[in-house]
Amino acid sequence: MSFAIHGLAVSSGIAIGRAHLISNATLEVAQYQLRERDIPAEIDRLDAAFTVVRAEVDTLRAEAAMPGTPAEIEAFVDLHALILADPLLAEEPKALIRERRCNAEWALVQQMNLLVAQFDEIDDAYLRERRQDIVQVVERVVKALMGKTRKPVRRGKDENLIVVAHDLSPADTIQFKTLRIGGFVTDLGGATSHTAIVARSLGIPAVVGMHHARPLIQDDDLLLLDGGRGVLIVDPDERILAEYRIRQAAMELERSRLKLLKSATTATLDGVPISLQANIELPQDVEAAKVSGADGVGLFRTEFLFMNRDELPDEDEQFEAYRTVTRAMGGRPVTIRTLDIGADKTARALRGIDRVAPNPALGLRAIRYCLAEPQIFLAQLRAILRASHSGRVRILIPMLAHVQEMEQTLALIGQAKDQLRERRIRFDEGIEVGGMIEIPAAALALGPFLKHLQFLSLGTNDLIQYTLAIDRTDEAVAHLYDPLHPAVLQLIAQTIQSGTRAGLSVSVCGEMAGDPRFTRLLVGLGLRNFSMPPNQLLAIKQQILTADDSVLAAAVRRLLRLEDPRRIEEALRRINEN
Ligand code: PEP
Ligand code: MG
Repeated sequence: MSFAIHGLAVSSGIAIGRAHLISNATLEVAQYQLRERDIPAEIDRLDAAFTVVRAEVDTLRAEAAMPGTPAEIEAFVDLHALILADPLLAEEPKALIRERRCNAEWALVQQMNLLVAQFDEIDDAYLRERRQDIVQVVERVVKALMGKTRKPVRRGKDENLIVVAHDLSPADTIQFKTLRIGGFVTDLGGATSHTAIVARSLGIPAVVGMHHARPLIQDDDLLLLDGGRGVLIVDPDERILAEYRIRQAAMELERSRLKLLKSATTATLDGVPISLQANIELPQDVEAAKVSGADGVGLFRTEFLFMNRDELPDEDEQFEAYRTVTRAMGGRPVTIRTLDIGADKTARALRGIDRVAPNPALGLRAIRYCLAEPQIFLAQLRAILRASHSGRVRILIPMLAHVQEMEQTLALIGQAKDQLRERRIRFDEGIEVGGMIEIPAAALALGPFLKHLQFLSLGTNDLIQYTLAIDRTDEAVAHLYDPLHPAVLQLIAQTIQSGTRAGLSVSVCGEMAGDPRFTRLLVGLGLRNFSMPPNQLLAIKQQILTADDSVLAAAVRRLLRLEDPRRIEEALRRINEN
């Protein structure tokens, strides 16, 4: 039966493919005690469920062997077959049924919890992650016990895999860069969470905050994901599929049309030049930045280099990564942001980050963590400085609020430079240091930052989070996340104005910079530097090429005087229509 589920649209595009469920380690099943005489029948019931799932997995294996099926699917299926055959899962629960008179589902889940706990102890990160597969297999058996078996599917050639999860961390999502995933949906998550940001950077459709998608969908269900509208259609009929295939083709056509703008100089109709740069998470993203024609890398989120691993990347490894990007950009500026770990971005290799902080977005995050761990920070600073010898590198400090944080950081940069001089390693002596303005306190008391820094970058994602007191990862308050709130607009306007007057370059590298709805507003506010996911760059360029700066400046001045949200929306609509 076909049905639709709605959530927050976080990354546009259309994907049609089969569901791949990612499990969380808790499975809710009925728990009851059997009568003595029912025990043999319960054991038969468990055996029968295993037989059903083994047959399912055999069918899956045959389908996975078809040409065109992504290799990842074959690997998942093989592993699931192995787990199913393991007596620890197929036989041990029978002891619980016999000795404790547990029903089959309950016995199976208890055994699963035991195995998952053992996997949690394993040092090897890859093996530890395999606990997910155990949970998935158990889920299949539980469904078979409840009489829900998988319909045989005919997997199409090159069919997409759409990940369905209760929640995905940014560290989980970044791994999709090496897997071929058509899109994903999650029950939790906010629109500017880093999970959503990574989806946009991957260029795959994603919908978060769906609440109940995970329990309603079964592995291999046919899914149609419309990331732009925030809709997931389960088991779509032929008519809907045909309609969406037409929409997919239209989007493809629009993308090819935008590509024609790549070599055009970015300036407004009245000749104001604008710099469009790219946000990247991993060194390999630099290719997409180049393809988009970016004027540089405006934000390299280096924390992603630290995720999904047990050991920290040392100075040399980081140096290689930064130099790869710097060389690839061939003289265009590369803005390397120092480690912004914490809040939703965790890394088990970093001490103190994997612990559950009472309020992580307000906790030991970004520059606060780096100043608490100066050896980790110094290694990163030395690596960035060393890369600066290969091109035009700038250092960007995240989450500044206090003048002392800037002073301590500048002192540590001085110390890192001294250490390199002692080692006779060359670096750019005049390297520019900038600060992210993403905490309202910094935007409101900008003076000292203007004096000691060479450039500013507005992190609107966090600026909005901290101004409006809305956790950017929490779908329950996502509707309150408002870039057009007058308080947010005032902070952005003041920062651009004060920074520019003081002779600093000011950019926006939050998601607002990559959203065409806000391009003209930002130009009208005086913004001349934008940094965004590479695949948004040409759509933003199109907005700029058709805008007149002098007209925008006057219209935006009027908009800034408004306080009623409806009137602000209306004024923006008029600005965008003209
Ligand atoms: C921001 O806060 O706007 C930003 C660009 O940084 P991040 O999204 O990584 O926090
Ligand atoms: Mg930020």
